[in-house]
Amino acid sequence: MAERDRQIKVIDQDKNIRLFLARTTNLVEEARQRHNTSATAAAALGRVMTAAVMMASDLKGLEDSLTIRVKGNGPAGTIIATADTCGGVRGFITNPTADLPETAFGKLAVGELVGTQGFLEVVKDLGLKQPFSGHIELVSGEIAEDLAHYFLVSEQVPALVSLGVLVAPNLNVQAAGGLIVQAMPGARDEILKIIEDNILRSGTISSLMDSYDSLEEIVPMIMEGVDYEIIENNYLQFQCKCNRDKLLGVLRGLSSEERRDMQQDEEIEVVCNFCQQRYHYKPDELEDQKN
Ligand SMILES: [Zn+2]
Repeated sequence: MAERDRQIKVIDQDKNIRLFLARTTNLVEEARQRHNTSATAAAALGRVMTAAVMMASDLKGLEDSLTIRVKGNGPAGTIIATADTCGGVRGFITNPTADLPETAFGKLAVGELVGTQGFLEVVKDLGLKQPFSGHIELVSGEIAEDLAHYFLVSEQVPALVSLGVLVAPNLNVQAAGGLIVQAMPGARDEILKIIEDNILRSGTISSLMDSYDSLEEIVPMIMEGVDYEIIENNYLQFQCKCNRDKLLGVLRGLSSEERRDMQQDEEIEVVCNFCQQRYHYKPDELEDQKN
């Protein structure tokens, strides 16, 4: 049985090529269940969540977070994933039940579900007044290609990105994961070429995650012919930051008109968009608590 969701970071001997490798099977399966998604929507949401949790691991502050927002012209609507620096990630998709037939190659039609036109935005909230944000036009809607384009255009970092979610016929997420190779300034082309060829030879990221129980078995295949060291290792999990008080704060912040509408009911139910947790409030709880 495969290990817990986990990410490891690797650096090459020259210290300018970085590999991020993550297994996200369980957290994508949890998102699929919570949002009751179709197979294709699970793959789309899972790819965005996988990318977000990998990229967030690069932030420094404990309170920092990273959000990827993908808004394409496909039936999925908007997909959002927010991750923290401790390996927690949550996700949202506007139309979780949207689905499409597989492509001619027998793949889930993620690009079509997301849409090939639209944008991808990365927002890094670093506790400053103005969060960093980068914004690109979608390339294919397949997410990995779009992110590679984002790294190049917004962060000036050439990168190889591979994201994959394998959904079983019973709709369970059988394997999910991601891989990012970043070439920092000074990275040698011949080393990059070796890694790129290794990746092409190794097969898709979801099949690697499905075939190998441990990330440590996969790294040597990807880094074959290159000296490297593992510099980080951390667990990943589905995690939402909502709680009853936080959502009550949102309700109290609504206009008095909006609140009056809700207060018609004896009990007010609010569902968190990110985890589908339901919270219940009495009408008088929505009043301002100034007195
Ligand atoms: Zn939540």
